[in-house]
Formats: sequence, C-alpha cells, structure tokens
Amino acid sequence: MSEYDLVVIGGGPGGYVAAIKAAQMGLKTACIDKQTAADGSPVLGGTCLNVGCIPSKALLDSSHQYEFFNKEGKKHGLVGSVKIDISQMQKRKETVVKNLTQGISGLLKKNNVEWLHGFGSLKSKNVVQCTSEKGLIKNLSTKNILLASGSLPSRIQSLPIDNEYIFDSSGALEFKSAPKELCIIGAGVIGLELGSVWRRLGSNVTVLEAQTSFLDTADKDVSAEALKLFKKQGLKIELGTLVTEAKIAKEKVTISYKKGVERLESSFDKVVVAVGRSPYTEGLNLDEAGVKSDDKGFILVNEFNETSTKGIFAIGDCTLGPMLAHKASEEGILVAEHMAGAKAPVEITHVPWIIYTWPEIAWVGPSEQFLRNTKKEINVGKFPFRASGRSHARGETEGFVKIIAEKNNDQILAVHILGSNASELISEAVTAMEFGATSEDVARIIHGHPTLSESMHEAALATLGNAIHY
Ligand code: FAD
Ligand code: NAD
Repeated sequence: MSEYDLVVIGGGPGGYVAAIKAAQMGLKTACIDKQTAADGSPVLGGTCLNVGCIPSKALLDSSHQYEFFNKEGKKHGLVGSVKIDISQMQKRKETVVKNLTQGISGLLKKNNVEWLHGFGSLKSKNVVQCTSEKGLIKNLSTKNILLASGSLPSRIQSLPIDNEYIFDSSGALEFKSAPKELCIIGAGVIGLELGSVWRRLGSNVTVLEAQTSFLDTADKDVSAEALKLFKKQGLKIELGTLVTEAKIAKEKVTISYKKGVERLESSFDKVVVAVGRSPYTEGLNLDEAGVKSDDKGFILVNEFNETSTKGIFAIGDCTLGPMLAHKASEEGILVAEHMAGAKAPVEITHVPWIIYTWPEIAWVGPSEQFLRNTKKEINVGKFPFRASGRSHARGETEGFVKIIAEKNNDQILAVHILGSNASELISEAVTAMEFGATSEDVARIIHGHPTLSESMHEAALATLGNAIHY
C-alpha cells in the first residue's frame, strides 16, 4: 500500500502549487524541499520567492521610486531630493520575501500537504528518499512522483563565483552598496533587470553581451526601441562581446573579452554573471527510476508532463520551455489535475514574457519577424503611448502597443508592449488570445478612460486601419 498518492520534490512555484492543487483534488500529498533561509530556517517558494522574481521586483520597485522622485519629481511639483538607504531597501526586500514564504507554508498546512524539509531523491519509481540536514533518512512510498527541482545559474568556467568580486544573480540581489563600476555579463532578462536596479542606485553599469543582436527573443521593434531607451538611461550595453576570462588584482576584476577580431580588457569593482540558467537535477537519481534527460540535463516529458517512467512527472525549470514561474505553476496545476483523473494534455500556448525594466517589456505570441518568415499573412496595428491621455497625465509616454492579427480571419496572433505597466497590460492580450479573440473583438470592448489599456483598444483599431487617436 502506498503511503502517498503524490510526493513532490521541490517547493518552488511549480512544486508547491502542484502540491496544493493535488491535495485539493483529494490526493494525499507530500512536498519535499531542501531550501533554508539566511537565518537557517526551512523555507518554501524556491528560486522565485527567495532569490528570483520577488526579491528582484522588490528592489526594482524601490529603485524605480527613488529614480522617479529624483529625476521626474520636479516636474510634478515634488521639490527637494531623496537619499537612498540601501540597507533599509534590503531590509524591506527581506520582509517581503519572509511574509510571502511564510504564507506558502501556511497554504500547505491549510490544504493538508505534508511539508518535509530535506533532500529528495528517487529510490525507485514508487519510493522517494528524503534526507534531512542532519542526515536522517525517511523513505516515502507513493503512487506518483512529481519532479519540480528547478534550475541554477549557469556558470562561465573561467569566472568562478566568489561572492566578493564575482557574483551570480543571487549575490547581486544582496549588495550592501552600489558598486562604483559594475559589469554584468549577459544582456538577458536578469542582466537588464538587475543592471537597472544598480544603475538607478548609482553604479556605472556595463552590460557585456555575446550576441550581436539585442534581446533576440523579443519583437525587433520592441528590442530596437528598448535598446535606445536603456542606453539613454545610462546602461552601457556592449553587443558582440564574448567574455573569456577574469583576473582579480588590487580589489578590481579585469575582464577579458573578444569583440569581433579584437581582444579587449576592462576593469570593474564587481562582476555579475547572468548568462542563463541550467536545470537542477543533481542528486535526484533519475537513472534509478529510468527517468531520461537530454544532453543539457532537462528532464524529458510527454504532452502530459510525464517522464519516460510512468507515474513520474516533471514540471517547471527542470524541463524544457520558458524558465518562468507562471509556466511552472500552470504545469503543476495541469499535472495535478491529470493525476486526479483529468485526461486533457498539458498545453500552454499563451505564456506571457515580461521584463521588469522601466519602461517594461511584455509580449505574448511570436514576433512580427518570425511570423513574416513563416510567410503568415498578417495585419499589424501599433499605437504609441505618446498618443495616450493617461500616459501624458503620468508623464510616461515612451513605447507602444503592437497587435498582430491574421489577415484572413483577424485572429490575434501576438501582442508586444513596451511601456510603463506593460506587465499588467499584457494580461488583456493573453485573455483575448486564450479566447481566440479577433482584433475587432478587442476594438469593440469598452475600455475605461483615461487608462493605459486604451492603448490596447487603439492598437486593435489600428490593426483594422481605424485608430481614432493616432
Ligand atoms: P524553483 O523555483 O527553482 O524551485 C525548485 C525548488 O526545488 C527549490 O526550492 C530547490 O531548493 C528545490 N530542490 C531542488 N532539488 C531538490 C531536491 N533534490 N530535494 C529537495 N528540494 C530540491 N520568472 C518569472 O516568471 N517572473 C520573474 O519576474 C522572474 N524573475 C526572476 C528573477 C531572477 C533573479 C531569477 C533568478 C529568476 C527569475 N524568474 C522569474 C524565473 C523563476 O524564478 C523560475 O522560472 C521559477 O522559480 C521556476 O520554478 P520551479 O518551481 O520550476 O523551480
Ligand atoms: P538569458 O538567457 O535571458 O540571458 C543570458 C544572456 O547571456 C544571453 O543573451 C546570452 O547571449 C548571454 N551570454 C551567454 N554567455 C555569454 C558570455 N560568455 N559573454 C557574454 N554574454 C553571454 O538568461 P538570464 O538573464 O541569466 O536569465 C535566466 C532565466 O531566468 C531567463 O531565461 C528567464 O527565463 C528567467 N528570468 C525571468 C525573469 C522575468 O520573467 N522577468 C527575470 C529574470 C530571470
């Protein structure tokens, strides 16, 4: 007899959400996570809550308010200047994280999910071993297993993280003061978000990016405009620079990099390596239960997120697909429903991407360039925030909304937004696309005035060639 219906390894946004959902559907569920907070206490929430989405957004919000007041305050009649107290900013961030992680342990309790603090590994296809910090071993027999072990920052071998001069994203969330000269390797999501935080707080930030193009996954209109704006804000973004080596001497890190045929060097006070993340499956003993992964370590799953072993599932960052918290959570819910008897395969087509710079970047669906390359016949409607009343009232007129619809039936295929609060605006696009809406559907919906969302309305009208305010 199995002790449990489901044992989840990993208590991040994939694992804890799946565990709650499974318990709500009547499955006897346990969730194992090994993470401990800075004070040594066990903690849930994974990368997202502890060293990812939440702490980075706390610092992005604080630093944005600081910059806004000092740069824009005068125009609004806000006189004087504001000073920063980075240690208070960090304390606030820690409180935000603590409140949210404690909330998750409360949610597991409320839903009767057993939370075990320890390292989970597969003993067989029906037994999970949980090893506590003190080395105590507990074997849990279970009908199903869910692997939600997440990811870790990718490394550059020649730049080992020492947390004194060279940091990964977790270390860059903990700086006690703004380094004078800060180098970020990688102009991806983390590089741009954390680069923005420390630039706003006073660092001279240089971002070294190996690719010759900027934000390759975004729509070209968005990435070109964003690059201009970020450079204007003071981020020094160097494209086509492949970092090869670092040397530490006299309290400086000297970075060697290739730019075209040139080999160059620059020195910094601190360096952050933000070159992507890799699946974290070390110690899970995948082979023990016949679970297959690819050559990069991503656990392979079918359309139900089931691995090569029946009854063992995997979700989130340890599987292929976007490494995003909402993708992990949604997969968790769908897998729990599947285990409880639902037959629909996991199909997550409309995953929004959001980059929390200022202005923010958000999109759902493919880029215009991708659609044109596939020879799709499309209509494109674009509405700039400089034509929006609310954007003027806020004093934030940068960016635009772009809607792409299929020519023959007007169905919305993608929405790309560069602008303040794009992170919130994109939800309307996701909802519309999930319901198979046309741009006319969005154009016929009454949007409140004056709101930023009117720009979605106008972009939908523009797709049909009928924008009113532009
Ligand atoms: P994780 O959150 O990594 O959780 C996995 C958990 O499993 C961890 O707690 C780990 O300790 C535990 N674990 C692993 N192996 C074992 C084991 N053998 N035994 C026990 N426990 C184990 N995504 C967004 O959508 N929006 C954002 O704004 C965003 N910002 C980010 C900012 C930063 C700086 C970073 C680094 C990431 C950010 N992400 C963001 C990505 C997001 O954090 C991840 O996509 C998400 O956390 C993945 O969830 P997960 O549940 O798959 O894995
Ligand atoms: P990323 O893949 O977004 O960007 C990494 C960048 O580093 C790439 O542009 C790559 O070309 C560059 N690079 C790689 N090696 C290099 C080298 N040797 N020299 C110079 N540049 C190099 O990865 P990331 O920024 O580390 O973020 C990891 C993941 O975390 C993201 O893919 C995303 O899924 C997730 N995340 C999401 C959010 C969000 O949703 N807002 C925020 C942060 C992180």
